[in-house]
Amino acid sequence: MSKLDLIRNIGISAHIDSGKTTLTERVLFYTGKIHKIGEVRGDGATMDHMELEKERGITITSAATSVTWGKYDINIIDTPGHVDFTVEVERSLRVLDGAILVLCAVGGVQSQSITVDRQMKRYRTPRIAFINKMDRAGANPDAVIRQLKDKLGVVGVPLQIPIGKESNFEGVVDLVQMKAVYFDGDRGETVRLDEIPENLKEAAAAARHEMLDSLSMFSDELMELVLEEQEVPEELINTILREATLSQDITPVMMGTAYRDKGVQPLLDAVGKYLPSPLDRDIHATDLDKEEETTLSPDPKAPMVGMAFKLVDEQFGQVTYFRVYQGTLKKAEQYINTRSGRKQRFARLLKIHADETEEIDTAGPGDILAIVGIDASSGDTYVGGDTNYALESIHVPEPVISLA
Ligand code: GDP
Repeated sequence: MSKLDLIRNIGISAHIDSGKTTLTERVLFYTGKIHKIGEVRGDGATMDHMELEKERGITITSAATSVTWGKYDINIIDTPGHVDFTVEVERSLRVLDGAILVLCAVGGVQSQSITVDRQMKRYRTPRIAFINKMDRAGANPDAVIRQLKDKLGVVGVPLQIPIGKESNFEGVVDLVQMKAVYFDGDRGETVRLDEIPENLKEAAAAARHEMLDSLSMFSDELMELVLEEQEVPEELINTILREATLSQDITPVMMGTAYRDKGVQPLLDAVGKYLPSPLDRDIHATDLDKEEETTLSPDPKAPMVGMAFKLVDEQFGQVTYFRVYQGTLKKAEQYINTRSGRKQRFARLLKIHADETEEIDTAGPGDILAIVGIDASSGDTYVGGDTNYALESIHVPEPVISLA
């Protein structure tokens, strides 16, 4: 297996105040890039990210932050939550392959989620929904799932049910593994699997049945097992969940509290399991010589094709955030900007982590990196070899469910 299928380029989108910053901070913490937890204020809220940035001199949400979780390399691409449809939002959506949609368990789907949803649909971006703030009074995940359907037409398939309500929210029942998942430790850092509590066994069985029912329409094998009331292997459920998520037929729904650290780690697991790798995207470009559309190949040996998607002033000067779609980008090589026709040397290649930058020599297809020393405009395509391509639009393949 190539490493390519272990790359996840994701965005985190949310209505303001639903906990995107807190969740991002926790993701960076768990993936080891922030070693110190944000100080907890009296009201239990973490510092906001401006304070955190000041304290550490880092950019928590830079244009793209690279982290690792288990065997996965996850690039988190900043997805501006603008209400207005902007080129910038569009561009960030071109670059990511999947997203986490953060929703407040009380506020649910709000107007801004609707705008972002429309944009994500255009780019056919598969998503996982995370219902945050499960600890708040009035938290109602069922209502949020109904709103997903009513307001966004999104078929949310809950993979969990909560254990305890509001301030007594303790953890979740994982409906795939059929285990209770608790979050122990001061801040809930440690994940502990346990038997499902007696008083939830019936509800969990019913919720699992409903989950399998929704998924059985994508697989005859599953449908047969369900009809015959046979045991369904976890692997089969995960395969169907992945395929149905990639084709955007469903959106898996998970839940937790970002600032109490409940549910963040299972969410990261789900990013690996259910969201697409660059291999799952079908990338189209325009061949400017032939004036026709062409499909790029995620082959590291093919000529390099990539796009500058954001220019940012970082502490070490202006950097160009870049995604490689085809071939291998090499430090010190020259590439042609197909808009201006100019050749430019890519002097320094960097991976940006939350609290450090790493100099790298090469970047392969699907990789996201920052380049120092080129004079790009956002949206420019760079190519190597004899190619003369412009990346115009990116499509995910039509939904194909290939399960027997
Ligand atoms: P953003 O605007 O989406 O980036 O949201 P923030 O991460 O800044 O969070 C908004 C507010 O909600 C802050 O006061 C957070 O401390 C609080 N918050 C975030 N996650 C949770 C949670 O899980 N439960 C509760 N009760 N509050 C939370």
